[in-house]
Amino acid sequence: MASRPPPGSATVKLPDKVDIAIVGGGIMGLSTAYHLARHSKLKVVVIERSYLVSGASGRNGGGLRMQWGDPGNVALMMESIDLCRTLAQELGINLWFRQGGYLFLARSPVGEARLQRNAALHRQVGAPTRLLSAREARDIVPELDTSDVLAATYNPDDGVVFPWPFVWGYAARAQQLGVPVRTHTEVERLLPKGDGFELVLSDGHRLVAPRVVNATGAWSNLLNRQLGFTTPNEPHRHEILSSEPLKPFLDPLVVDLSSGLYFSQSTRGELVTGVSLPPASGYDDTSLSLHSSLRFLGHVSRCLCKVLPVARHMKILRQWAGPYDLTPDGDAIVGPSPGHPGLIQLCGFTGHGFMMAPAVGRMLAKWLADQTPHPMLERWDPSRFARGLSQRYEDMSIG
Ligand SMILES: Cc1cc2nc3c(=O)[nH]c(=O)nc-3n(C[C@H](O)[C@H](O)[C@H](O)COP(=O)(O)OP(=O)(O)OC[C@H]3O[C@@H](n4cnc5c(N)ncnc54)[C@H](O)[C@@H]3O)c2cc1C
Repeated sequence: MASRPPPGSATVKLPDKVDIAIVGGGIMGLSTAYHLARHSKLKVVVIERSYLVSGASGRNGGGLRMQWGDPGNVALMMESIDLCRTLAQELGINLWFRQGGYLFLARSPVGEARLQRNAALHRQVGAPTRLLSAREARDIVPELDTSDVLAATYNPDDGVVFPWPFVWGYAARAQQLGVPVRTHTEVERLLPKGDGFELVLSDGHRLVAPRVVNATGAWSNLLNRQLGFTTPNEPHRHEILSSEPLKPFLDPLVVDLSSGLYFSQSTRGELVTGVSLPPASGYDDTSLSLHSSLRFLGHVSRCLCKVLPVARHMKILRQWAGPYDLTPDGDAIVGPSPGHPGLIQLCGFTGHGFMMAPAVGRMLAKWLADQTPHPMLERWDPSRFARGLSQRYEDMSIG
């Protein structure tokens, strides 16, 4: 049997010159690297500062859904979920992909109107989302308190994955296809050189590339600043926890629109739950700090026990934090940078980059290989903010 390639390595040999250098070994950088390796002859490397699941890609809830408010995002996620159906075989690794659906609950007239509008939109584009009453929502999850629920939506094709094997799978396959995935090596400096760039790495190596993909997520402006500009995305600490393993009882990932609470049950039985914290003095969540707080533990527990009263007997095993990469309009930033067309941004994915990566990586790889902008990604043009074209139209970002 052929031996499995490692998912990245701190010692893999790097060339001095490549066609595309991808900075950041999260799900976005790795999915793009994998698709470039599959569909082009371009010479590509991935440089990751730490271990592969050290960024947001190893710290998220693993939820995947078609239930979005913007038709472009619904279509993109239909494609991403479709790719996930065969991705485990393609990457040769168990992704723990489980389609138990997503159940959204609305407890206010505004939330109800949002769900009604979305259900109609989803029907138009062919996503199987159903608008439900509170009683029908309880038929799906009998443990829910739906006493003040006005409406719900359910899409059985939505689901959850275990994030880590996803990242490792892309990395291992990309390496197998000839892309060095170098871990524990930081891109310390990014310098303009000729028509491209020189990357100075923390091990002293210098790498020249006409095109660089900035896939450093919440850290992306640290790299951009080296070229004298920034994009308007900024980090926001987001906390999450998981419980002791419980007997399986919960199929869908449940989202309570009124609080932004979400929870699902992993294949190992743990309840995984998160929520955004309301602003409070003394708490700065706009930093890259990844510490966990007692305040989150109290807030998420109160929100969870209101919606799922049986959770009050549950023990917490693990609590952690990760960076959301927030943009002013809730949409990602993808494409050539203003003033530096060879630097491709691939960032600003807020709390939903994991689920979008299978489709986005494939689309961006095609764009880079064909040198033709991809129509699905053009709406995320980094220059839209400066051109005044940014309007907030995605209102289904959660957490
Ligand atoms: C708590 C939480 C829950 C979430 N839940 C979900 C969910 O349920 N579903 C979903 O789809 N998404 C979710 N997300 C969002 C999702 O995790 C992110 O959108 C996605 O992982 C972003 O991937 P990325 O590759 O862009 O960034 P990252 O995974 O953060 O990768 C960026 C990488 O760049 C590296 N890097 C930075 N600077 C340098 C440098 N100078 N040189 C080399 N490497 C560098 C970092 O070490 C990091 O590994 C959640 C996020 C959090 C924090």
